[in-house]
Amino acid sequence: MKMDKASRAQEPRPAAAQAPRPKRLTGLGVSPGTVIGTVFLLDKGLPPIPEHAIRREDVDSELARLTSAVDKAVGQLDALRGKVAQGGGSGQQEALALLDVHIQMLQGSRLVRRVEGLIREARLNAEAAVETAIGEMSAYFRTISDPYLSARIHDIADVGQRLIRILAGRTSHSLQEMPTGSILFTEDLTPAETVLLDPERVAGFATVAGGADSHTAIMARSLGIPAVLGVKGLIDGAKPGDRVVIDGAEGLVCLNPDREMLAEFKSHITLEQAEAEELQSLVMLPSITRDGVEIALKANIELPRETGLAKAAGAEGVGLLRSEFLFMNRDSLPSEDEQYESFREIVGSMGGRPVTIRTLDIGADKLPLGLTGREIDAGYNPALGMRAIRFSLRFRSLLEDQIAAILRVGAHGPVRILLPMITSAQEIMAVRRIVREVASKLLRQRVPFADPLPPLGAMIEVPGAALGADHLAQVSDFFSVGTNDLTMYTLAIDRANEQLADLYDPFNPAVLRLIQFTAQAAMRTGIPINICGEMAGDEVFTELFVGFGVRELSMSAQRLPRIKRRVRLLETAEAAHFVDRLMDERDPAIIGKLLRQRLEGRA
Ligand code: PEP
Ligand code: MG
Repeated sequence: MKMDKASRAQEPRPAAAQAPRPKRLTGLGVSPGTVIGTVFLLDKGLPPIPEHAIRREDVDSELARLTSAVDKAVGQLDALRGKVAQGGGSGQQEALALLDVHIQMLQGSRLVRRVEGLIREARLNAEAAVETAIGEMSAYFRTISDPYLSARIHDIADVGQRLIRILAGRTSHSLQEMPTGSILFTEDLTPAETVLLDPERVAGFATVAGGADSHTAIMARSLGIPAVLGVKGLIDGAKPGDRVVIDGAEGLVCLNPDREMLAEFKSHITLEQAEAEELQSLVMLPSITRDGVEIALKANIELPRETGLAKAAGAEGVGLLRSEFLFMNRDSLPSEDEQYESFREIVGSMGGRPVTIRTLDIGADKLPLGLTGREIDAGYNPALGMRAIRFSLRFRSLLEDQIAAILRVGAHGPVRILLPMITSAQEIMAVRRIVREVASKLLRQRVPFADPLPPLGAMIEVPGAALGADHLAQVSDFFSVGTNDLTMYTLAIDRANEQLADLYDPFNPAVLRLIQFTAQAAMRTGIPINICGEMAGDEVFTELFVGFGVRELSMSAQRLPRIKRRVRLLETAEAAHFVDRLMDERDPAIIGKLLRQRLEGRA
C-alpha cells in the first residue's frame, strides 16, 4: 500500500510551451477500447502516518477514536451506497456488491479486531495499528498465486486508507471534478474509486499498480471504460492537460502523441468501431458451423453479478461457475442457505439457460480466510496437495452443504454439478453417493429439489484423468476439460510462475493429444464434453476443438462473440481433416503456426 504520495496540483500546461516529446508506455490492457483525451492526475494525498507508542491509560481513548473512525467510514460508505443505488447504470450491481464488501470489512471483522488487538497489546496508535493490520493482510493475499484473489489487496488497502484519512482528519478526495474527456492517471485506483467514475466524463484511465483480474479491472470492463493497469513510469513526466491516447486492448499509453501517431490511432479507432459493430451483430445469431452443426458457447463466471455480461454476449448458459469465489472476502464460511441464495440469483438471472456449478476448487494457494483455522496441510508441493475434490471429500460437511444448495436451486432451473481435479472413478462414485444421500435428506425434510437429479460431471484437468477418460466416462454424465491445469500438470510448469511462462505451451502436442483422447472417450461413451479452460476462448484453437468433435465451449463472456464469429466460418468435416494432419506434427511452434495460418485463412 502506497501511503505517502507526493501532492500534485492540477496546473494546465501554458499555451505557448514547446510541444512535448511523445512517450510510449506499456502495461496490462484490461478493458478494451482506444481513446484520445487529456491527462487528469489524481492526487490521493494520503497524510504521512504517525507512529508512536501509547500509554496503558490511553488505550481506551485510542480504541474509542478507532470506533468513531470506523463508524464514520461506515457512514461514508452507506452514503455512497445510497448514491449508487439511486443512480442506476451498467456498473450498479457491481458497485453495490463492492460497497457491501467494504462495509462488511469494517463491521466486527477480522481486520477491525486485529487493529484493536494492536492498540491493546502492541500499544500502537490507531493510524499505525491500521497500517500494520492492512500490511499483514495484504502480505497474506500476496502469497496467493491466483491473480483474481491477490487483487483483493486493493479492497483491503481501500478500507485502510479510508480509516487512516478519517483518523488523520483528512477529507476524501473527489473524482467528480474531472472535466469531460479526461484520462485519469494515478498510482493506484481502488475498486470503490472506480465505481465513482462517470463513463460520460472519463474517457479512460491508467494506473501504475493493478492486475489484469483485479476488481478495478472488472469494474472498468463492466462500466465500459478503456483502461491500462500496471504501467511503470506512468506518472513521471505526465502533466495535467497533456494529450494522451490509451489502447485498453493492447495495454498501450501514448503521452503527447505527434501528428503521425494521432493519425494512426484515429484509424485504429475506426477499425475498432467497425469490429465492435460486427461482433455486436453476431450476438443474436446462432452459433453454428457452415454445415449447420451447433457449437454451444457458454460463459465462465465467478459471481452472480456477472450473469448480465454473459447474457449480453449471447451465452447459452454458464459452462463453469467457480463457486470458490463465494467463499472469499469473508471471515466465515457461507452457509448452505447463503450458497443457495447466490446460486438461485444466477439460475434465475440466466432464465432457463443451464448453469454448471463447480464444487469448491480450493486448497493450497486458494485458501479462504474462513478455512485458515482448519487442519489443512497443503504439503511441500501445494499444487499436488490437498485441494479441490480431495479437500471436499475430506471435509464432507462442506461438500454436503454445497450439494444441498445445488440440488435445491435445481428446483428453479437446469443445473449441472461439476467436480474439479478428478483423478479416479472412485471419487466420482463417492460424490454420487453423497448426492443421493443429500437428496434423501431433502426429501425427508420436504424441501423441494431438482427432479431428476442434476447431471454429475468431471473436470478433466490432470493427465491421469485424461488417460483414464474411458473409465471416468462410464461413471460421469459429462466431461469438462480444464486446459489451464491440464497444460500445467502435463508439462510440469506452474501456470502462475512468470519465469516459466514461455514453457507453459498449450500448443505442445502432449496437451493436445490428451484433449483429443478425452474427446474420443466421451464420444465413444456418448457423454457430452465441454472445454472450459482459457484455450476455449482463444480463436486459434476453435477449429482444433471442433475437429476433435467437441460441441461445447465455455469462456469469459467478453471472448464469446469472437469465438462465435470463428465457429460460423468453420465446416466440421474440413476441421476434422485438418486436425488429422495437424496431430502428426511434433513441434509446438509449427502447430501454433499452422493454427494461426488457418485462422487467417492462409492454409
Ligand atoms: C482449468 O484449469 O482450465 C479451469 C477451467 O479451472 P481453473 O482455471 O479454475 O483452475
Ligand atoms: Mg482448474
